[in-house]
Amino acid sequence: MYDIIVIGAGVCGASFAYKASKYAKVLLIEAQDYNKKIPERVNIFAEHNKPFIDDLIWKDEEAFPRPWKVLNYKSEKNDGLIDYKEFGKPLGKISHTEKFIEKLIQYAEDQGCDTRFNEKISKINKHGDHVEIINNKGESYSTKLLVLATGSRGFGLQRSLGFEVPDSYMGIYLNSDVDENILDENFNFQYMFHLNPNISSDGPFFFNVGKGRVSTGYLGNKETPAQLKDKLDRILRNYEIIQKYVKGISWDLNNIVIGDISKHPISKMTNNRIIVLGEAAGLVTPFFYEGMLCGLASADIASRVIEPLLSNNTEFSSSELVKYDQEIDRLLLDGYFRNGNACEYLFYGNKNSMKNIWNAYTEMLLKNKTVRKFVYEVLMIQDLSSYNTDNDRWVGERLFAQLPLLSKATMWPKFLKAMSF
Ligand SMILES: Cc1cc2nc3c(=O)[nH]c(=O)nc-3n(C[C@H](O)[C@H](O)[C@H](O)COP(=O)(O)OP(=O)(O)OC[C@H]3O[C@@H](n4cnc5c(N)ncnc54)[C@H](O)[C@@H]3O)c2cc1C
Repeated sequence: MYDIIVIGAGVCGASFAYKASKYAKVLLIEAQDYNKKIPERVNIFAEHNKPFIDDLIWKDEEAFPRPWKVLNYKSEKNDGLIDYKEFGKPLGKISHTEKFIEKLIQYAEDQGCDTRFNEKISKINKHGDHVEIINNKGESYSTKLLVLATGSRGFGLQRSLGFEVPDSYMGIYLNSDVDENILDENFNFQYMFHLNPNISSDGPFFFNVGKGRVSTGYLGNKETPAQLKDKLDRILRNYEIIQKYVKGISWDLNNIVIGDISKHPISKMTNNRIIVLGEAAGLVTPFFYEGMLCGLASADIASRVIEPLLSNNTEFSSSELVKYDQEIDRLLLDGYFRNGNACEYLFYGNKNSMKNIWNAYTEMLLKNKTVRKFVYEVLMIQDLSSYNTDNDRWVGERLFAQLPLLSKATMWPKFLKAMSF
């Protein structure tokens, strides 16, 4: 019998297994064959993620090979650059995420965590004093507490246990190995967040520039995988404003990863002996799609809630685990997510307003140091529960003032509503 079984070894499940195996007997199970290869990814890792990982890992140069120095909020008209030099420390780091996950798993195993890869869990049976999980080969394991960190790929399991599932969108991602000299020449930033409703009206097109590699793609779409792939191919070949970045880079479309990305948190993330973490719970910020931050934060919160319950040998009842839901509210949903909800409402969904407001926002970034400073501070904040929504309102008011006169007339109700989020 395990103390805790974790299903899913993405960033969230691997991070939780690492933390929990310091005090519990843990089994981490993953459907993909990590013994062969963990899929490669480059991500931007803002400084505000740092409180949720150990210093040992934060300083690991394979997992985090370079600092994140410049952010480009790009519109068709402007490059809204946030450059660390204007304010001090870098905005965070660049993560080679498969290395990050590999390290988390390696450290968890060093602490005694058992791991099983290439095993998909297909059934879960709840009993009074334990939970039994069964894999696709018919083998079963028992645990006092089950942690679902299954991202967007375990909704069937979630539903079978009586949990809601979050809203689901599509994301497409392509990674390419590139000579450092080409990266230096082509990119004056490490992350580009670009809104164009013809690409996606519910998410950004992005570049993440790593060390010796770059990734691109877009999020929030609802098209079929074939349409997503075809569109990315056309963007990389023809989209004028990004041609200077992709010059000399070749993309192997056979390596494209297409997957669901979920957002809008479910209302209850715990049940007797079961707890749902990360993207499975819809914990992805609704505007920026920061799943890494939320996955790491929820793993950290869960680990801290579970430790005393385990040492007191409790039943892991719903009323004991609810502390996890409350902490998620306090740290993420009651503050930082309100900004995301307002931005999602303001920018996404409507083609015309998306373009106009995004152009105005990037213009404001160019002209207004205070706005740049607020963005910088959000990326750097070390205690998300002290997130200041007053700054967002201040920016919202200036953004409205920046809009062309015609847009103002039609958009003021939208702004008024967004300000009340
Ligand atoms: C294209 C794209 C780009 C993104 N870019 C960024 C970014 O730059 N920054 C950022 O912060 N976020 C980004 N995100 C979001 C972020 O990557 C995810 O939200 C985050 O990684 C989710 O972590 P997770 O551990 O909760 O879930 P996942 O990483 O999805 O991990 C879940 C794991 O559970 C396993 N699993 C599922 N069901 C079972 C089962 N039945 N049995 C066994 N194993 C199972 C899966 O195989 C998977 O490995 C991006 C997402 C996409 C799709």
